[in-house]
Amino acid sequence: MTPLERLLKRRLAAGPLTVAEYMKLVLGHPRYGYYTTRDPLGANGDFVTAPEISQMFGELIGLWCAHVWGLIGAPKRILLIELGPGRGTLMADAIRACRKVASGFAAAAEIHFVETSPALRDMQARALYGTQVSWHAKLSAVPREPALIIANEFLDALPIHQLVRMENGWCERLVELKRDGRLGFTVAATPSPLAAALDPLVALAPIGSIAELSPKVRAMARALAKRIAHFGGAALLIDYGHAAAGAGDTLQAVRSHRRQDVLGDPGSADVTAHVDFSTLTAEAASVGIRSFGPIEQGVFLRRLGIIERAGMLKRDADKAAAAQIDAGLKRLIDTDEMGTLFKVAAFGPRSLDHLPGFVR
Ligand code: SAH
Repeated sequence: MTPLERLLKRRLAAGPLTVAEYMKLVLGHPRYGYYTTRDPLGANGDFVTAPEISQMFGELIGLWCAHVWGLIGAPKRILLIELGPGRGTLMADAIRACRKVASGFAAAAEIHFVETSPALRDMQARALYGTQVSWHAKLSAVPREPALIIANEFLDALPIHQLVRMENGWCERLVELKRDGRLGFTVAATPSPLAAALDPLVALAPIGSIAELSPKVRAMARALAKRIAHFGGAALLIDYGHAAAGAGDTLQAVRSHRRQDVLGDPGSADVTAHVDFSTLTAEAASVGIRSFGPIEQGVFLRRLGIIERAGMLKRDADKAAAAQIDAGLKRLIDTDEMGTLFKVAAFGPRSLDHLPGFVR
């Protein structure tokens, strides 16, 4: 048994945990959590993200930031914040591209990473070697100034609650210790107060349905929106998820690029859930800033010029390298790869009625 399993079983012996508590523990435990202890990314890891697939992803996002910086008046100094930067690849590609073709922005940008994992902070420091970076454990610790904020596959790692529609209402789905010593799901006997926050249409789903809620995602969206409202700037949020709220179980565990049982070998797999983008746009609206999208990642990247960028890279590439560029392009934008499942949304101040990549 791993130390995390031992700890989890001790906790469960005292009573079941909500799915949110389970996610928080297995992913973020300060000593034994999945993210705390390892680099989960890349071919030898558990999953691959867009910036790890192709340099074009980070480059285009860097240039998106540079463009938005221009739209807000090209201030001499602006924070460039990334939430959950993984290996730091996106930011390294973004900064390299900006130094080449948007040097004013590159000089103005002050980089801040919000990252909890010590293992990944090390990798980020290596990826950004020679560039000034500040690290923070929480967004609230980042200086309160105008900022461009990026988050790729960050919100999907924040804990979600699952509610199950029972005869007596929506009751919280729980993780418990079964008699045979294994983990299993159960459902609380009485309805959850969280049910009040369900989308009215989702609340009508038939008995047996599962609905998901993430107060953490909501709070994060609110904090981002407030930052933009008070200090100016914009945020770009990319994740896999859906545009409208709906019933359904999207909790998944991935290890070595394969799906596995969410409760099997806890702490050894990445556990995530789809992001409900309607909660993001609702928070922006309630704070009084503008939101853009969500649109599909494939559409967004095409509008930013990924096909043209691939063409440029291929001009200097040999046959093998060119094939790799095409393969990366395909993975990022094709409908049956990441192009449709992944969505992109942005937040911006009221003063901006347009952001690159989005059509209003
Ligand atoms: N954005 C990167 C990595 C995605 S993996 C990429 O696209 O490759 C999720 C990242 O979020 C990891 O860096 C993980 O350590 C970080 N993370 C997860 N939960 C976090 C939290 N609550 N606060 C800060 N960082 C978190």
